[in-house]
Amino acid sequence: MYLMENYARLPVSFVRGEGVYLYDGEGRRYLDFISGIGVVSLGHSHPDLVEVIRRQAGEILHVSNLFVNPWQEELAGKLVEEFGEPARVFFCNSGTEANEAALKLVRKYWRDRGENRYRVLAFRRGFHGRTYGSLSATGQERFWEGFEPLLEGFDFADLNDMDSVRRAVGEETGAILLEIIQGEGGVNECSEEFLRELSALCRELNLLLVVDEVQTGVGRTGLFFCYQHYGIKPDVVTLAKGLGGGIPIGAVIAREEVAGAFAPGTHGSTFGGNALACAAASLVVDRVRELLSHVREVGSYMKEKLRELNVGEVRGRGLMLGIDTGRECRDAVLKALEKGLLVNCTAGSVLRFLPPLVVRKEHVDEAIRILEEII
Ligand SMILES: *Cc1c(COP(=O)(O)O)cnc(C)c1O
Repeated sequence: MYLMENYARLPVSFVRGEGVYLYDGEGRRYLDFISGIGVVSLGHSHPDLVEVIRRQAGEILHVSNLFVNPWQEELAGKLVEEFGEPARVFFCNSGTEANEAALKLVRKYWRDRGENRYRVLAFRRGFHGRTYGSLSATGQERFWEGFEPLLEGFDFADLNDMDSVRRAVGEETGAILLEIIQGEGGVNECSEEFLRELSALCRELNLLLVVDEVQTGVGRTGLFFCYQHYGIKPDVVTLAKGLGGGIPIGAVIAREEVAGAFAPGTHGSTFGGNALACAAASLVVDRVRELLSHVREVGSYMKEKLRELNVGEVRGRGLMLGIDTGRECRDAVLKALEKGLLVNCTAGSVLRFLPPLVVRKEHVDEAIRILEEII
């Protein structure tokens, strides 16, 4: 009634959640295999997360970034430990803000060095967010329509096609930005060979490698960062979605040398790294670290079960999985909803599954039974 109609919302609303289940006003139960698009990583109403949020709300919700912030330091320490080499972190509130900050950071890095390497190479079918920088880096015209002119300085290549990358890189290219598994673009995976060659090209041409782990990060694919499956070392990593377990928070992790481009006053956010968000994310990171092998195990179980359905190519890793059904899948989403299963359709024909990381095999079996019924 009063809301802008920018979302095509499904005809259901929820009043309560517990673990992998959501409940509507009539007490109907839904198996949640979207988890707020990979946000509710520990499941709904995780008691430890609820407790941390309660406690932090009773102490301090927010202080300005004008002051020393121990909650950010604690969380940043954990993220840098996962990153595995000297790095620094900037906190914001969402995925698009994290990418926006990363884009500003790499531009500033080259400006500081007196080089005109302001261009960023990104990928077709990629998705990086809705604000102008991130939108301009998003290689899908359907998101641009009506919003042109976009920000200048972006070139696009095709995933898993090194020739297209070499063609698109020029003297003014300063960074390459990519998702290791494209989420919104249809769960499209980078091949190991492609990532190895891409990373070698970055070293050869001194390009900064920026990995958007907004969807793939924080344990979603069974390692803390998805790029860790491939043995590559990015210069910058962006996070959001699952990081706060449902509390809005985004982060940019950058190698120490790159991070130095953000001198005092160059970038900021009023809410970014809010005490409540950092306390929540800190707990989420601890729990996710304990869940990684569980994610790999349940993820490969689920991938196998999805394959056995025989309805199309199954892609993804860990608990970020998709079936390319080869046809419009919004109907399937509605049918699943009627039967109490929440799934998502992306890129038109890809059924996407992003269950909470605490999901167990019996929940997977329950989801598969419903999928069998609707196929
Ligand atoms: C969702 C997403 C974003 C945008 O995150 P918001 O929090 O919606 O701004 C950016 N990059 C990737 C890979 C995403 O999946």
